[in-house]
Amino acid sequence: NELVTVKDLSEKMKLKVGDVIKKLMSMGTLVTINQRLDTDIAILVASELGYDAKLVSIYSEEKVENKIEDPAKLKPRSPVVTIMGHVDHGKTSLLDAIRSSNVAGGEHGGITQHIGAYRVLTQTGGYVTFLDTPGHEAFTAMRSRGAQVTDVVILVVSATDGVMPQTIEAINHAKAANVPVIVAVNKIDLPGADPQKIRQELSNYGLVPEDWGGENIMIDISAKKRLHIDSLLEMVLLKAEMMELKANPDRSAEGIVVEAKLDPRKGPVATLLVQTGTLKIGDNLVIGTTYGKVRAMSDEHGKRFTEAVPSTPVEVLGINEPPQAGDKFVVVSHESHAREIAQSRKEKAKAASLKPRHHLSLLDISAGN
Ligand code: GDP
Ligand code: MG
Repeated sequence: NELVTVKDLSEKMKLKVGDVIKKLMSMGTLVTINQRLDTDIAILVASELGYDAKLVSIYSEEKVENKIEDPAKLKPRSPVVTIMGHVDHGKTSLLDAIRSSNVAGGEHGGITQHIGAYRVLTQTGGYVTFLDTPGHEAFTAMRSRGAQVTDVVILVVSATDGVMPQTIEAINHAKAANVPVIVAVNKIDLPGADPQKIRQELSNYGLVPEDWGGENIMIDISAKKRLHIDSLLEMVLLKAEMMELKANPDRSAEGIVVEAKLDPRKGPVATLLVQTGTLKIGDNLVIGTTYGKVRAMSDEHGKRFTEAVPSTPVEVLGINEPPQAGDKFVVVSHESHAREIAQSRKEKAKAASLKPRHHLSLLDISAGN
């Protein structure tokens, strides 16, 4: 992917062409003035020369195309949900309740493994994808990496405890990310439960139930007794429908790493959430600073897939080394391309980390405190 000439790049940086050529030479790249540079080399040399070069790699080229995608090619996709809430209000219990209510899950009988995300088929035949890492850390970690994965937040609030500090934190995170909140008022099986009081409390924080004229769907549930879990899922689907979530399944895939690890038996494995396009066996991937070829895809029941459409989480085998959660992945046409991009990103990251920092004195002062 050679786009920019040495001349153009120099002009952009308002530097002499000779200086840029010299710098390239010192990096082991011999070029002439009108020669086109590999995008990653261009970024690398720019950063060496003190320019915060934007990522104009193949990846972002495809991203640009993606943004001007033909609306006619977009098809509805299922929602991706994160469960948040104060500690002990029932996030894990709710994830378990949802998992066990999964119509499709029962079919496979395989041992359910934690792969960081799973998809459930609801009673009415719609899919909902859940990120399996409850809590704010996962959400904020992803967001801090610029990854927007969640379409809907389910906020779990205990009907006996009410709004607590992490409840408020979750509300703020969802607001900042502009993600709609569906409230699950949990533990309604307990004698002290007061769901109406919870609604009152929440409205102080801008979450107002629909039947009070607000925008937030609120459902009373019991994760423990498995009460109204199906209604909750249907409400999520309804919300998704209103949001008109769409993606183009007929293109090469892009998405996000949900989780990754080095499995002692399988080698590097990553759970990828496909956000657009369809991921297929044999696809060449660039994932952050690593790369690979999709050898196998499976869900948390070990069920194998040959294709994964938008909003599907899949555990993928065939990656060179484990990427990081929140890394973006993109499918490229050639294996060699994937390797080259990953390698030059790695070098770039290394170069960036070796760059001298100019705020050392500030660090020194704070270290002395
Ligand atoms: P988390 O910290 O938000 O993940 O909360 P957990 O799911 O671990 O639940 C905390 C405690 O609340 C556990 O002892 C659960 O058994 C209990 N719990 C969760 N949901 C319910 C519920 O609907 N009813 C009752 N009675 N207890 C619940
Ligand atoms: Mg928990």
